[in-house]
Amino acid sequence: MNMMSSAGLAPFAVASDADPARTHADALKALGLSLDSHRGDDLPVRSPIDGALLATLGTHDAADIDAMVARARTAFLDWRQVPAPHRGELVRRFGTLVRDNLDPLSALLSAENGKILEEARGEVQEVVDICEFAVGLSRQLYGLTIASERPQHRLTEYWHPVGVLGLISAFNFPAAVWAWGTTVALVCGNAGIWKPSEKTPTTALAFVGLLQRAMRDFEAAPANLVQVAIGGADIGARLADHPGIDMLSATGSTRMGRDVAVRTAQRFARSILELGGNNAMIVTPSADLDLAIPAITFAAAGTAGQRCTTLRRLIVHEDRKAELLARLMPVIGKLSTGNPLAEGVQVGPLIDGAAFDRMQAALERARAEGGTVHGGERITDGVPATGYYVRPAIVEMPGQSAIVCEETFAPILYVIIYREFTQAITLQNGVPQGLSSAVFTMDMREAEYFQSALGSDCGIVNVNIGTSGAEIGGAFGGEKQTGGGRVSGSDSWKNYMRRATATVNYSSTLTLAQGVRFDVVEDDNKGGN
Ligand code: NAD
Repeated sequence: MNMMSSAGLAPFAVASDADPARTHADALKALGLSLDSHRGDDLPVRSPIDGALLATLGTHDAADIDAMVARARTAFLDWRQVPAPHRGELVRRFGTLVRDNLDPLSALLSAENGKILEEARGEVQEVVDICEFAVGLSRQLYGLTIASERPQHRLTEYWHPVGVLGLISAFNFPAAVWAWGTTVALVCGNAGIWKPSEKTPTTALAFVGLLQRAMRDFEAAPANLVQVAIGGADIGARLADHPGIDMLSATGSTRMGRDVAVRTAQRFARSILELGGNNAMIVTPSADLDLAIPAITFAAAGTAGQRCTTLRRLIVHEDRKAELLARLMPVIGKLSTGNPLAEGVQVGPLIDGAAFDRMQAALERARAEGGTVHGGERITDGVPATGYYVRPAIVEMPGQSAIVCEETFAPILYVIIYREFTQAITLQNGVPQGLSSAVFTMDMREAEYFQSALGSDCGIVNVNIGTSGAEIGGAFGGEKQTGGGRVSGSDSWKNYMRRATATVNYSSTLTLAQGVRFDVVEDDNKGGN
């Protein structure tokens, strides 16, 4: 990305007309960044808000990826020699730049991705937060000292950087997911290549533009430490196949993960997979609906149902269903849907027409499987005509049928009833995905059971809080077809390092492990003539 001189600290506000193309251009200007060096003719980037063309970029090809990987390798060989706390200093400086530019970054992200400005700000804040997490981590990459079974031996575990990280990300979190992985990978001593979604490449170029600005004044940072690969699935596949990519972090659909997992497994590369979710909430007889109603509303309809942690299944006790729906439906009906850059709007558009078609097809299937659909239709009044805006759908289902077991990336909430708590757990776990889950209960036994090994089988297990959104401190990811990966949080840094177990003998005898005796006889003259 070309850098211009401005530091991007001028106050920034979205103009009152909330025009996406103008907001996007203004935000780039406020950031002091230009897309000029990436312009081309094969990737039109459109705003989901109104379909406006934001930019047309050139895409990379296989030869470009080869060159990038070679450059990343050179960068890695330098970077791994920089002490980890110094590596953290680069991430600290990047985090400060992001914090100073929170407003234009949020506006740019919202214009390109279509999430409301408030949530875009939350995503950019998450980038700042993970930078702080990674900076702290840069002084805490601890190994272990282990008690050796042999006298006068020291047994130690070291952690070393792995090499070059390839990171594929999805459109719905166009910045945070990259930052979760990359800031941690950087303090661990790795170099990175980021393949953002082809639907949100300019957000990627803006964040890497700021990282390059942080690197400009940081002598220890080698050139090409982090690069951006622009393109679609073919470029992602190229990274997954490339022998120079030591680890691949891939966030997106289970369909994508199934392909990428095979490619990386075939060459024994590491992979971290963050794939689709099909998240449920159990509403029990003792649930506090004053908490549950806003939690359900945000988790099911917020971000237009386009979070991996979006609430898709509501498993409600048969005695609470009528009351719950009577309260929930009017609340969801009152949500303000429209241009996400405009103040007061709570729900923006779907990413594109294909997402809308998939939503309608899912609702059709739900009807065919015995469901009663409320809402779900396209909204055309008071919204930009060329965007795909929908009313969130609530679908009463007779059971957990085939369509309920699939992730449809749109605001559809299936409602199923249960009688016994264990039956609710069976329903909750009875889908192929295992990302996020929640129970609303005031019963301590139910709350504890849900979190236990007998309860939810998901990576995220919440009590009296919705399924969507997570704090960066905890390990984030899910089980089963969600891929089993943990991109960030807690001790996930270990995924970006290789472990070496070292044994040092400082005695004057050679002792074998497990007490094995293996006596060797040497000539008296010890090899002399
Ligand atoms: P997607 O799978 O269509 O694309 C994601 C990324 O993968 C894009 O960069 C795309 O170009 C690339 N890609 C697609 N097919 C590929 C292939 N065969 N080989 C290599 N790369 C390929 O997903 P999307 O529509 O951008 O995002 C929505 C999906 O992402 C949902 O399923 C959602 O649940 C999931 N998601 C999961 C998490 C998580 O942490 N578990 C987070 C965000 C999104």
